[in-house]
Parts: sequence; C-alpha cells; structure tokens
Amino acid sequence: MKKKVMVFGSFVVDLMARTPHLPVAGETVIGSLFKMGPGGKGFNQGVAAHKAGADVTMVTKLGKDLFAEVALDAMKTLEMDTSSLFYSEEIETGSALIMVDEETSENKIVVVLGACSAIGDKEVESISEIIEESGYLLTQLETNISAVEKVIDIAKKNGVKVILNTAPVQPISDVILKKVDIITPNEVEAEILTGICIDSQESASKAADWFFDKGVKNVLITLGSRGVFIASESKQEIIPAYKVKAIDTTGAGDAFNGGLVAALADGKDLWEAARFANALAAIAVQRLGTTPAMPTRKEIEEFIS
Ligand code: ATP
Repeated sequence: MKKKVMVFGSFVVDLMARTPHLPVAGETVIGSLFKMGPGGKGFNQGVAAHKAGADVTMVTKLGKDLFAEVALDAMKTLEMDTSSLFYSEEIETGSALIMVDEETSENKIVVVLGACSAIGDKEVESISEIIEESGYLLTQLETNISAVEKVIDIAKKNGVKVILNTAPVQPISDVILKKVDIITPNEVEAEILTGICIDSQESASKAADWFFDKGVKNVLITLGSRGVFIASESKQEIIPAYKVKAIDTTGAGDAFNGGLVAALADGKDLWEAARFANALAAIAVQRLGTTPAMPTRKEIEEFIS
C-alpha cells in the first residue's frame, strides 16, 4: 500500500533577472528579463514528489504577504494540500534575489529565508499526528536546524523513515545523524561533511563508512551527470545517470530527492527508487526552471519504458 510522505522544508519566491552584465557595487544595470516563481529546496522537492504521484503533506512557513500567495497559488494549481502550512505574523515569506549574466550564465544570489527559518518547536509539535501517519519524512537543511531536529525526532520515535538531503550544507550534529535512515548529499556536500574528497567509488565508499559510523543507515551520494553512488551496510554500487542533453541542472538534486521519496513510498526498494529518481531528474534537467521542470508520473513511466 502507498505510504504517505511529509516534506518539511523551505519555501522562497525566486525573483530572477537576466542582465547584460552583473552589476558591481553601486551600479544599476537595465536587465532584459524578469521572472518570479515558487522555489526553495523544500518546496521543489515537495512538488517533485507530488507530481511523481506521492501523497505529499508539504510543511513550510510563510509570511502574511503577497509572496505567500505565490506558494498558495502554485499549490492550488498543482492540487497540493495546503492545510499544514504555518504562517508568521511578523516575518516575511522567504525570497531569493537571483541575477543571471545573459552572456556567461554566471549568477549572484541572495537568499533571505524569512518565515521558513523561524519554525518553532510548538509548531512542529502541532503536526505530530501528521508526522506519525507518514511512512516517510523528507527534509533538508534550509529551514532553522532546531525545527529539522525536532521533526526528525518525532518521526524517528514513531517509526517514520527519515530522508535527509544535506543541502545547503552545514554541520549536522551526531544526534541528528543517528536518526537518519537515508542521507542524500551531493559530492561537494559529502566532502564537506566527511572531509573525504569524492573522486572515485572507493572514496565514496569511505564517505559512506563515515556516515555509517555516525548511525546513518543508507547513503546516496548524487554525482550529477554520473548518476548516484548508493550504499547500505551490505551492498554498494554506482547507478549511472540517464544520458540526456541537459539544458538547466538547477534543482537536479531536488528532483532526485522528490523522486526518491515518491518511489520509496510506493513500495520500491532503495535501488529501484534511486533508478526512478535518476529518471525524474534526467527529465527535469532537460527543461528550464525548477518546479515547472518536474515531470508527472506518466512522463517518468514513459521515459523509463
Ligand atoms: P543542484 O544543486 O543543481 O540541485 P545537486 O548538486 O544537488 O544539484 P546533482 O548531483 O548535480 O545534484 O544531481 C542530482 C541527480 O540529478 C543526479 O544524481 C542525476 O540523477 C541527475 N542529473 C544531474 N545532472 C544530470 C545530467 N547532466 N544528466 C542526467 N542526469 C543528471
């Protein structure tokens, strides 16, 4: 039977401007294009899982402002459940100011996490029952860490499987790590967390051992166009990525994590789920944007077959 999924994480509104060159301090540049849309690692992963067919409860925190409407509109359009969102009276909805040089594609980004970095313990406790009903919890490091710690703790105490995507990377306490069933760093994050440079299957294996020593049960290190290294205590391998022509890899990790949890909740084993996640991400990197790039379940099945 299909299990429920909770995605607990960030929401920010992406405000993207393309410009002939990136401005230096004090300079104003006339840009050529502006786009606004929903984003944030938590939200992207929630949308990816939902579009892939998972029964997702998305938990994040918004302000009481116009940007909150961006989240609500997107969720309504996608027919996602909006009943487990938190709201702040004082703090604005998160935002990301993204400037992209149209010549070089170099960017400068300022992210203000806003409301989603101020999720209180009491708020997390208020969704205990929903956490308990879930088969899987997928979370990242883009909300306040106290909330991540709390939601993982409640999940673990109730036998809910915990997937931790270690982005954006920052130190993670041993208390959190020992409660993680599946950790999903990319290779840079894996290196920063373990101190081991991931340049071969052997080094990935050493990094996996580092996580196992901390009590993590399964390790998936995403390797971009090379695929994913996957290790449990008894078995490990690199599952290659699909060979596609990538045009925008922003959010590839989010696509992968959303696909992974959707497939696990469907009853697939970790190896099958990683293959499904590879497929989802391979479709997403062939499209522009983050949430609009996430494929539907039908598109994924057609791609795999
Ligand atoms: P981002 O930070 O851009 O969201 P990431 O660094 O977290 O991405 P990656 O390891 O780059 O994540 O990619 C995640 C997954 O996406 C890979 O494991 C792979 O399945 C898929 N992927 C990424 N790039 C490509 C590509 N060029 N071709 C096919 N699949 C890709």
